[in-house]
Amino acid sequence: MAVLFTRAFALRPLPLLIALTLLSAAILAACDPATPPAAPAAPPSQPTVDEILALDQAQSEGEVTPAPEVEAAPQPDPDQEDPPEPAAPAVEALVFVEPQQVRQGMSFLVVVDSPNAGAASVALEGAFLSFIREGGRLFTILPVDAEAPLGPLSLLISIADGEGRPALTVELEIEVLPANWPVEVVEIDDENSRLLDPEVIAEDLAVRSGVQFSKSPVRLWSGFFRPPTAGVITSTFGVRRSYNFAEPVDYHTGMDHAGALGELVVAPNNGIVAWTGETERRGRGVIIDHGGGLFTTYWHLSSISAEEGNPINRGDVLGRIGSTGLSTGPHLHWEVVVHGVAVDPIQWIREQEVPDPSAQFDPSQAIYRTEGAVDDTPTGAATDSG
Ligand SMILES: [Zn+2]
Repeated sequence: MAVLFTRAFALRPLPLLIALTLLSAAILAACDPATPPAAPAAPPSQPTVDEILALDQAQSEGEVTPAPEVEAAPQPDPDQEDPPEPAAPAVEALVFVEPQQVRQGMSFLVVVDSPNAGAASVALEGAFLSFIREGGRLFTILPVDAEAPLGPLSLLISIADGEGRPALTVELEIEVLPANWPVEVVEIDDENSRLLDPEVIAEDLAVRSGVQFSKSPVRLWSGFFRPPTAGVITSTFGVRRSYNFAEPVDYHTGMDHAGALGELVVAPNNGIVAWTGETERRGRGVIIDHGGGLFTTYWHLSSISAEEGNPINRGDVLGRIGSTGLSTGPHLHWEVVVHGVAVDPIQWIREQEVPDPSAQFDPSQAIYRTEGAVDDTPTGAATDSG
């Protein structure tokens, strides 16, 4: 089964600073390889989430090893003059993950349907990513790295109430399946051997990663992405690359389309032109921000007609196919990047596979739902399909 387990905790309205301090402490502790996992039940490969949960639990229950009777919410004493502790904020939520079967290089959607949640974020592989709100829904698109370890991938979703107070934490584990990337031999001459120069690689990475941090906070795309050029696909994502028959040292982070010099390259979906420019490795390029951490990028162009900062619509011309940068001939290399991680574009150009944040989900398919989860008691109410 893809979803291994879910756990949820309703939080008392802690002062935010304390909550953040605890979270930071948990992360720092988890980053220290000498620190043993705090929770005995934790899978040994996932200390971060369990240490965070252990701290959450300890804080909300007042002790590190809770006895079951301590978990009951204290009843207000009518004779007591001190005002009773404020009740935990009530947030109702259904959580969906789509698709639940993910393999290396895939993108997936996490949705929190809630009438009264104020915000949500998710901790994934050490990054904290915000959800986007659309109507009564919060969602985010998440990446699975092409070289992600197989097996469980932990997500820790934090949901706040309408006033920004932490209300609910949901821990999920989904299973990453193997992509079995093929190996491709790339023969490079002396000039293109600079492809392997660390300085050339670093310059290219620096340019791109800087752009992809300033993301549009709203979703600009909809539906699937049309291929950006008419040419056939000549190399797919994830292929392990052997340069001149040596042991593969990296993999193909995008998709290549054949094309004649000067052939048009168009935007596959709506967005904002986040960057135009040139790097030594990739030549002339365009980066489109589609919102919410989703970017697409286009490289080796002979010319660029998109203008940085301008909105762009599906079908608008970005530029023309070329062979600039370290390239063996005219072609388009394009990438789909989710929260800084390159993912397989094939999923985004297929109508049946593209993540759809507007999709209606069957409530019975929720992998977590609040059901008595607001009374400070770990309910185990989560659906456990394992
Ligand atoms: Zn390529």
